Amino acid sequence: MYQKNKIELLAPAGNREKLKFAFLYGADAVYIGFKDLSLRSYAEKFSISDIKKSVDEANKSERKIYIALNAYVEENSFKKAERAIDKINEIKPHAVIVSDPGVINLVLKRLDKGISIHLSTQANTLNSEAVSFWKKQGIKRIILGRELSLSEIKKIYSKVRDIEFEIFCHGAMCVSYSGRCLLSSFMTGRKANKGKCAHPCRWKYRLIEEERPREHFAVDETDEGTFIFNSKDLCMVDYVKKIRLAGISAIKVEGRMKSLYYIACVTRAYRKAIDNCYGKENFPFRKIREELEKVSHRKYTTGFYINGKNDYDMQEYSSSAYHRKYDFLGIVIKVKKDCAVVNVRNKIRKNEKIEIIGPDMKKDRVTRVGEMRDEKGVDICDANPGTNICVKFPVNIFLGDIIRKEL
Ligand code: SF4
Repeated sequence: MYQKNKIELLAPAGNREKLKFAFLYGADAVYIGFKDLSLRSYAEKFSISDIKKSVDEANKSERKIYIALNAYVEENSFKKAERAIDKINEIKPHAVIVSDPGVINLVLKRLDKGISIHLSTQANTLNSEAVSFWKKQGIKRIILGRELSLSEIKKIYSKVRDIEFEIFCHGAMCVSYSGRCLLSSFMTGRKANKGKCAHPCRWKYRLIEEERPREHFAVDETDEGTFIFNSKDLCMVDYVKKIRLAGISAIKVEGRMKSLYYIACVTRAYRKAIDNCYGKENFPFRKIREELEKVSHRKYTTGFYINGKNDYDMQEYSSSAYHRKYDFLGIVIKVKKDCAVVNVRNKIRKNEKIEIIGPDMKKDRVTRVGEMRDEKGVDICDANPGTNICVKFPVNIFLGDIIRKEL
């Protein structure tokens, strides 16, 4: 059954700047992590007052902020979870994302009733009985396991109603039930469950025989090495309508560690795909897909959603490297009468060919960098990362535009 209300687009936000760009480039909601209690602790650069400010702003623009508290918590760290929930009651986000039954219990007892509870994908919900169980516990939304196919999701949706379903639609995938994998803890001391995974599953491996410690034997699947756990990145942009028809209310982009540029591009691509799907836009799908090729990514796959099984095509066998075709040069932080102030992220050179992008992909502009002046007003030919410069562009420029160049 096709529902009228629109599918929600959720983007990651590792700091205030990324959050602002996620909203500007089309996200309906963002998710952020609570330090030490979410799965992306390196990514989070939010103070409590930052989050409060962000929630106020989101309320004004009818957007939402969800806070991830989805780590599994050891007995000795449980006090942290209690303190976190008290802080969340002050911040009043729109929802918390949880997975540990202990934290869920705590949230049910202590969390302000106006804040919804979403069940993290870490809880691996894979069937309608599990959904019914969580519904009875007071969960409002379930982020389903990535192991499900869309046809299985459709079946679940037909059996249990009055609960929302969310899935991951784009980004890196973990071959384990992420967070429950001990590989990173064991090999590097960095716990996946605390968002510190070093991704050793993607490293190249060699075999050593005990008596010959200096001899490293290749364990090759191809000449390039072994990348046996090296999943491709998920990309479901072609299937937004099918996702909605399966009963999903929200789709989520993975990547709180990703750059502002990545978040903006992926968000605006999925925004167009959703708007296309609801007849609000008729933007060529070819261009939406091309946009997703312009961010750093591994090869794309649809995971389990379409074929329903782990097939040969889900893994990358020759390299764990990212494909990158564009460089992120900077963002427009102010528009003046005669120039735009650009915060430089990668070297910008006078006269080089660039592309300027904004929230609406229809208005992208290919042009060249005009005259540039540094902060003291001196003419320059090169601008270095971290500086703010005045640039003249021969095209219209808007606050929040992003400048990139093809490599
Ligand atoms: S090491 Fe790999 S499989 Fe394990 S949690 Fe990290 S990304 Fe997932």
